[in-house]
Amino acid sequence: THFGFRDVPTGEKQKLVGQVFSSVASNYDLMNDLMSMGIHRVWKRYFVGTSQVKRGDRVLDLAGGTGDIALLLRDRVGEAGSIVLGDINGAMLRTGRDRMTDMGKVAGFEYVQMNAEKLPFPDASFDLVTIAFGLRNVTDKDAALREMHRVLKVGGQARVLEFSEVKAEWFKPIYDFHSFKVLPRLGKLFANDADSYQYLAESIRKHPPQDELKAMMQSAGFARCDYRNLSAGIVAIHTGYKV
Ligand code: SAM
Repeated sequence: THFGFRDVPTGEKQKLVGQVFSSVASNYDLMNDLMSMGIHRVWKRYFVGTSQVKRGDRVLDLAGGTGDIALLLRDRVGEAGSIVLGDINGAMLRTGRDRMTDMGKVAGFEYVQMNAEKLPFPDASFDLVTIAFGLRNVTDKDAALREMHRVLKVGGQARVLEFSEVKAEWFKPIYDFHSFKVLPRLGKLFANDADSYQYLAESIRKHPPQDELKAMMQSAGFARCDYRNLSAGIVAIHTGYKV
């Protein structure tokens, strides 16, 4: 287990993202439930459940935060497998490690502070690389996708779970109201931090929509790229393989 949390050199956006996640770390799990009305749990289950991950696999969960995805993966890779939880933010990683330790989940996890744009692993290290609700926060997404491809073994899969573009016209005004009126208020009320939640809502809108992200994965070297919308495109799962 690596736990020397040093300051990773960061650009402007990364600094902002760092502040946001340091300030939301302790409330992160509660806020996810409130903001999505619990639905993020269903999306995450589906994301891991459809991943074809096997017993004994070695998995990297990027932008792993407080460990939701890593926990779901743990039961699937079993004793013989291992999971590296990587995140740029020390406060999020610590919150995740403490939470998993409290749950008695210790074996098989490694926590490594890292920038998704530059992964500290040799080529062909992992069977599966996941990133859930993380890619939109990364400044150089193309670099992150290229790195995900590099550290995968041949035959390995990358999976991206991220907010995407809502497809149902009737739902758009409701979704906008929720994002720009309800979210910052929930943030103010429960975390006393409207700005961070305002940032989150804006970052969702700036993230490349379904087909654009698929094309980015193709440019990063992935084969058989595809995506599936969940909840009318509120989120999408993108997949690609290293061949
Ligand atoms: N995957 C977790 C989940 O689904 O609950 C956490 C998602 S949280 C919304 C986004 C995470 O991305 C934060 O923990 C943040 O620190 C991390 N992050 C942001 N930029 C990053 C980067 N460049 N490299 C690695 N992690 C990053």
